[in-house]
Amino acid sequence: VPLQSRVTFDGRFARELPELAVAWQADAAPAPRLLALNESLAEHLGFDVAFLRSAEGLAFLTGNAVPEGATPVAQAYSGHQFGSFNPRLGDGRALLLGEITDADGNVRDVHLKGSGRTPFARGGDGLAVVGPMLREYVISEAMEALGIPTTRSLAVVATGRDVQRETVLPGALLTRVARSHLRVGSFQYAAASGDQDLLRRLAGHAIDRHYPSAVDADNPYLALFSSVVTAQATLVAQWMLTGFIHGVMNTDNMTISGETIDYGPCAFMDVFDYAAVYSSIDHAGRYAYANQPLIAEWNLARLAEALLPLIGEDQDAAVAAAVAALEEFRPRYSGVWLAGMKAKLGLPDGVADGVASPLANDVLTLLQENHVDYSTFFRGLSSAARGDARPARDRVLDVAAFDAWAERWLALHPDADAMDAVNPVYIPRNHLVEEALGSATGGDLEPLDRLVDVLRRPFDERPGLERYAAGPPEDFGAYTTYCGT
Ligand code: AMP
Ligand code: MG
Ligand code: MG
Repeated sequence: VPLQSRVTFDGRFARELPELAVAWQADAAPAPRLLALNESLAEHLGFDVAFLRSAEGLAFLTGNAVPEGATPVAQAYSGHQFGSFNPRLGDGRALLLGEITDADGNVRDVHLKGSGRTPFARGGDGLAVVGPMLREYVISEAMEALGIPTTRSLAVVATGRDVQRETVLPGALLTRVARSHLRVGSFQYAAASGDQDLLRRLAGHAIDRHYPSAVDADNPYLALFSSVVTAQATLVAQWMLTGFIHGVMNTDNMTISGETIDYGPCAFMDVFDYAAVYSSIDHAGRYAYANQPLIAEWNLARLAEALLPLIGEDQDAAVAAAVAALEEFRPRYSGVWLAGMKAKLGLPDGVADGVASPLANDVLTLLQENHVDYSTFFRGLSSAARGDARPARDRVLDVAAFDAWAERWLALHPDADAMDAVNPVYIPRNHLVEEALGSATGGDLEPLDRLVDVLRRPFDERPGLERYAAGPPEDFGAYTTYCGT
């Protein structure tokens, strides 16, 4: 019986790249219950919200009923995990249902995370639990509202199944929506297979979906690579400007589209710290805050290696061309970052980079040395531009250093309103996220709904929401995040 989702599914990925797609079925969800539904996204994608809330809709969101045209597949990919190559990762607990077209004519993947073991599950149970799936829901939607490219979350459904972790926890599925699920690791898998035709089809698929103008370039595969370099340099600069730490930048978690993907051990930094790490397994700090641009560049070098056979017959020339394209990463990253810092500091057009850059770096040094909360400092700084330095100044122990810095900055006549448009009041604070997830796991969804609601308008300060704007309470302590939960 065709489902009345009102949405037409295609199975283009599975059709064009069968070597990367294993047809598979989701596990049964014994007692599905909707925990979160992104109604605005649902409508934009053309879904009937009443349908998604119905029993049939829940069967769809758990993969237990497959809409016409959809071919659920587990995607194959490789990846460098903490620097070590694993040739066979793939969707161990997820399925791509297919592609749909949204209200603006954009093609989007619909994907289920937590749908049961697949042939790529290795030692894993193929499942996901309520807390981490709601965490991905909250943080991805906050990223979207902050204007940072990201996969989206359509819904979280509790399955009614118990999942064994350190304790027994309630199982859940997340329905993820993305421009695509193509990763650096997808290219690594195709390259490692030695099948050049597959690699060429994969690159063609990526170009068509994400960078269609690359077909007109002299070397379309090099143009594809350059486009990914640009997209990722832009993305990571936005992470850095917002204080976002991804936490597990393995090559299988880096998209070709330039969207943030895989919200596992990520966190927004409270106190500014270049060395900030939250992930329980990142002992060496490979994915620390300040390392993110370097790691992105490293991952892009792995993408270049995978693409070399397509870039040119003469491999020496191909390497030289790829290296030149990768060298664009740093200027692009620095350009986006500095433009973003100028905006955060409210600097008028025409302030030279040679003035703005040391000003930006010096204020970050001030925050680092004085253990200052990153987001509240920048938001408070607009008051200083309006004549009241206290909200920012009172956060800095070394007031003389602040005053000396502020004198340089104020001499440039910052625009306070422009600052408020780019410095968020509300970010997904770790303590607020934990509080909301704790309540949700216990059955009370109200704190979570309220938090998502606040985070949807991050720049718009509203009365009565002071607790959502504040940094963590003194007793919150060190925060730890986890992968694969
Ligand atoms: P991640 O670190 O989240 O990117 O996951 C790395 C790999 O582990 C991917 O191949 C995932 O599909 C797989 N994986 C993570 N958690 C599970 C799980 N509970 N069961 C099966 N596979 C998993
Ligand atoms: Mg992953
Ligand atoms: Mg993950």
